[in-house]
Amino acid sequence: MNILLIGSGGREHALAWKLAQSPLCDTLFAAPGNPGIARHAELVPINVNDHAAVRAFCEAEAIGLVVVGPEGPLVDGLADALHGLAVYGPSKAAAQLEGSKGFVKDLCARENIPTAAYARHRSKAEALADIGRFGLPVVIKADGLAAGKGVVIAETAQDAAAALEHMFGGGFGDAGAEVVIEEFMRGEEVSLFAITDGTTIIPFGSAQDHKRVGDGDTGPNTGGMGAYSPAPVLTPELEARAFAEIIEPTVRAMARDGMPYTGTLYCGLMLTGEGPKLVEYNCRFGDPECQVLMSRYEGDLVSLMLHAAEGRLAEADPVRFSKDTALTVVMAAKGYPGTPARGGVIRGIEAAEANGAHVFHAGTSERDGDIVASGGRVLTVTARGPTAREAQARAYAAVDAVDFADGFCRRDIGWREVARENG
Ligand code: ATP
Repeated sequence: MNILLIGSGGREHALAWKLAQSPLCDTLFAAPGNPGIARHAELVPINVNDHAAVRAFCEAEAIGLVVVGPEGPLVDGLADALHGLAVYGPSKAAAQLEGSKGFVKDLCARENIPTAAYARHRSKAEALADIGRFGLPVVIKADGLAAGKGVVIAETAQDAAAALEHMFGGGFGDAGAEVVIEEFMRGEEVSLFAITDGTTIIPFGSAQDHKRVGDGDTGPNTGGMGAYSPAPVLTPELEARAFAEIIEPTVRAMARDGMPYTGTLYCGLMLTGEGPKLVEYNCRFGDPECQVLMSRYEGDLVSLMLHAAEGRLAEADPVRFSKDTALTVVMAAKGYPGTPARGGVIRGIEAAEANGAHVFHAGTSERDGDIVASGGRVLTVTARGPTAREAQARAYAAVDAVDFADGFCRRDIGWREVARENG
């Protein structure tokens, strides 16, 4: 079967690597892809925002499965435009689980799903008048997609007012036309993944990531500087509760309301004293969480995704994961998450992979035969080991084999889990 993968990040490189291993895969195409993805796929220069062009390509190449990596095209309705084809990823209506924070909060309220208390506001004056009842700190979110930057945790009333001013003043464009105010939840955060065809739900592992740019979880937020899987802090009991109290009622409600959800459901959880509560949903794998999940996944990804896309997930083979911990370290270009240095030459990728690690490309391009940095997050260096500590040691040994003078990384990815293992 011919397969089209949409996207160009480290997440999509990991997906391409796994999809290409399937005996069901004839030709894998990727749009637009990157130089790492090109090791497994034929890159096609179609504009993924041009849904008619994507559809025409799928028809011309007899594409049997479309896998959509990032949230943007899903929230824009790419899956709807490809109606009739097997698409792994939700419809525009179902992708509201990521695309509208207010939509999710209303759904949680209707279905009794544990999450932070909230209010939705379309006017600054109303929001300001309402905010006092949430106490401090208070969480203020732009309703729509804001690339992880649309959330402010305000410690003071002044900071809260400034955040509302910024959002209603157009700081996030249309995404901030509506604002969600939330009660602050205390606890440890963990990510839980599920694959669903709208009816059947299959657990697909857990992970924890590191959002801050600096060691010790300091400095500004980023798209993610590293991750590991599994996250043992999510015990089997807590995972079962999260499925029963959060994921299952969500998937059931979406189907009942005529918006069946297909694809990866990424559930961001806060482990509070009262049990797991929903922080957010994403309608795709995380980046870099996907890299660690794919490193541990031992099944046929094409078969699994096809079963989900065709509404036959109940017949899919059971999901098997390695018991190893996988850990990934993001190598970013200096300046990230501000303005990253572009054009830095990267060498040593083969040496880094010599001992079984994988170097997934994110923001890279090719120049005169060299791989160079062309984005903020550039590489995700991923390794496995029987413990988090060993996975960490192997990942950093691979990082140290990469020669990327214009890059940097955190040196403490996985610290929580390593500290737990060390007792
Ligand atoms: P991202 O793209 O980074 O996942 P997002 O823009 O989708 O972010 P959220 O995931 O809703 O936004 O929030 C970002 C982060 O803010 C969360 O990962 C969490 O650390 C924190 N956060 C959000 N809501 C709350 C809350 N109610 N209580 C405590 N922390 C919260």
